[in-house]
Amino acid sequence: MTGEIYLDFNATSPLHPAVRDEMQQALEEVPGNPSSPHRRGRRARELLDTARSRVAHALGVDPDEIFFTSGATESNNLAAALGEASGRPFYTTSVEHPSLREPARRRWRRSGTGGEVPVDASGRVEPAALTALPSDAVVSIQWVNNETGVLQDLAALAQGARASGAIVHTDGAQGFFRLPLRIHELGVDAASISSHKALGPVGIGALYVRRGLLVDPVLLGGAQERGVRPGTENVVGACGLGRLAQLVTENSPWDWPRLTSLRDGFVDELTRIDGLELNAPTELTLPNTVSVAVHGLHAETILLHLDREGVAASSGSACARGDTRPSHVLKAMNRPDSAIRSTLRLSFGPSSTREDLARAAAALRRVVRSLRE
Ligand code: PMP
Repeated sequence: MTGEIYLDFNATSPLHPAVRDEMQQALEEVPGNPSSPHRRGRRARELLDTARSRVAHALGVDPDEIFFTSGATESNNLAAALGEASGRPFYTTSVEHPSLREPARRRWRRSGTGGEVPVDASGRVEPAALTALPSDAVVSIQWVNNETGVLQDLAALAQGARASGAIVHTDGAQGFFRLPLRIHELGVDAASISSHKALGPVGIGALYVRRGLLVDPVLLGGAQERGVRPGTENVVGACGLGRLAQLVTENSPWDWPRLTSLRDGFVDELTRIDGLELNAPTELTLPNTVSVAVHGLHAETILLHLDREGVAASSGSACARGDTRPSHVLKAMNRPDSAIRSTLRLSFGPSSTREDLARAAAALRRVVRSLRE
């Protein structure tokens, strides 16, 4: 939208033009169903295979370790069933996205085992918290938090947990294809990948699963994605995700030194606003995300006024819309209720400019001043 300053990249990000072109081409070609035996079906299969190879290459894994899904929600639901059939207990952290947290809770209710690992006041899992887990545990540790941008030291946590026998999954919806890290650098056994947080299309994602690890399907049906995710494949979406993966490996649009410099300038301006406090230290967060509490004001009221000023932001996770419960993420970090009620999430990306952020900070300053008067 013209004139709008979009600061909600963690909810969804605008499509990268090269990704859009790739999808447009696939759409125009009208490939068939990849399971069909005729030429059109074979062409669809070819496009799907290319997309899978590109995703696998970007992650440094083999194509047969990648399963396409509809997004990180579905990947997380599949991951939350890892090791269930063999009776392994399932653990997560206290700051997980609902798409991991809810299936985990159902598994705990059903099995009577497993539970949550706490985080410290800055939102990070302490390595010692994992040492107490049983050796046959499956543990899911989010990589980047969607509400606060807090990054876990995933490689170290995964290494510790795996050394004691655990299987490690990560919800990497806010990390993969933004950060250039590959699976072996993180050292996880399984990972959930979203596309629309990183300039790709919505409605497609992937689950990486180390070869040899069994995944029980959530949906039952045909043999697509080797039965792990039945249903006719989203070929056009996969082409978009594949192109995104290729972009990220060749010349990533996510220029982190630039985004860090933008963030630092933005935070400087924001912290001049009276009563504004950062929810997490910037050294621990992905630089595209700033989570702030504006004490004494309700986030929803501020957001309404910001929207009128042409600034699109959010109060936390977009999935929490309509959910009036205070953020479990900020609660887990022991933030006071007054801070939780007044928290804004400002998240930006490659197309954001220094001027956008300066204008957004000025708009927030005006809104806060007028609401306080
Ligand atoms: N995990 C995290 C950390 C997320 O931020 C999101 C999206 N809000 C999801 C999972 C779900 O992703 P998707 O929209 O691709 O289903």
